[in-house]
Amino acid sequence: MRLLHILADSVVDGPGLRTVIFFAGCPHHCAGCHNPDSWAVEGGEDYSLQQVVEQIRQIGSHRVTISGGEPFLQQEALYELVNALTGYDIYLFTGYRLEQLLDDALARRILSRVDGLIDGRYIKTLHDYSLSIRGSTNQRILNKKQLQSFFG
Ligand code: SF4
Repeated sequence: MRLLHILADSVVDGPGLRTVIFFAGCPHHCAGCHNPDSWAVEGGEDYSLQQVVEQIRQIGSHRVTISGGEPFLQQEALYELVNALTGYDIYLFTGYRLEQLLDDALARRILSRVDGLIDGRYIKTLHDYSLSIRGSTNQRILNKKQLQSFFG
């Protein structure tokens, strides 16, 4: 998988102390994006699944956030990663709205494995400094129970 980097000990990407995996590539190109360097699909470096899992294990936290970039741009790799992280508390950021992902079988399998989802593009005019985890008020933070309600 193509990643920008792996960050240890984040306290701003979900509940608790988390390891953050930044996927390379983003098609959303939101105005005011905090990290336009993440847009290039060929950015970052190639990692094997084994390398990523081993780094996460060595860092030690059982809380992992998958961010980017847009993780669903590398959907197969994302699926392999969430599967390999059974037993971990997983939060996932996406610039897509959840409803845009539900028609895709693989995306649904990924979503069924995560514990929290932050969805939607960043909209600069809806930015609010008082928000935690998300950047703009249109984005949602959905917990596992809320996510499951979308699956019917
Ligand atoms: S989805 Fe996130 S990474 Fe992608 S352009 Fe928007 S703010 Fe930037």
